[in-house]
Amino acid sequence: MTMLADDATAAAVLDSMPCYPVPPFGRSPVIEALRSSRVGHGLAIGKDGVMLILRRPWLALDVPIASPVAGYLPYGSIGAARAELRCGLVPHAFHDAILGHLLGKIPDEAAAFIRWNEATREFAVAYPDIDEATPTRLVYRMPRLPPDWHMVCDIHSHARGRAFFSATDDADDAHATKISIVFGRLDHPDGPTMAARLCAGGMFLSLPRGPFAGAPDAD
Ligand SMILES: [Zn+2]
Repeated sequence: MTMLADDATAAAVLDSMPCYPVPPFGRSPVIEALRSSRVGHGLAIGKDGVMLILRRPWLALDVPIASPVAGYLPYGSIGAARAELRCGLVPHAFHDAILGHLLGKIPDEAAAFIRWNEATREFAVAYPDIDEATPTRLVYRMPRLPPDWHMVCDIHSHARGRAFFSATDDADDAHATKISIVFGRLDHPDGPTMAARLCAGGMFLSLPRGPFAGAPDAD
């Protein structure tokens, strides 16, 4: 068989992000295996674009990462985009408990993490060890994840400031696969505001809805 690369390291890199053409009819067992994998990622190339397929125990993400292919390809379609929480929505009680914690720390910023256990399918909240907290800056140590636990939501507050993703937040989130959430205006009379995004594949993706179950008008 002719190899994709003649260098062993380059071949390993290509192997870690495989690339599969979508057949024009019938099914692709290799793409279906990737889609149903516990952990994995790869690309499906279709006549209508390039789809990143990314799987984590808690996440199933299919997202187009290139504009439609201009040239003719004798392939099938990459299909519809999808971003699904395999772990399900986070119970709303976590939203309220974390907001209470963040509110208790103002005027300083604070953080919280929502974890999910893939063996028991339960959620839990963890709080970091804080090295330095001010109204505009937060330095902390990420608590270690025990076996079977995955970090689903990485949450921090901007205390009384607006909820938005700063340049520091962008740098922190660049290489992660997680939902990143900022709460702001915590003690504002109109209530706190939330910004959320899915970090995956080196991209920041908007979420069709917040990760919390029954969240009334989360925005
Ligand atoms: Zn921030």
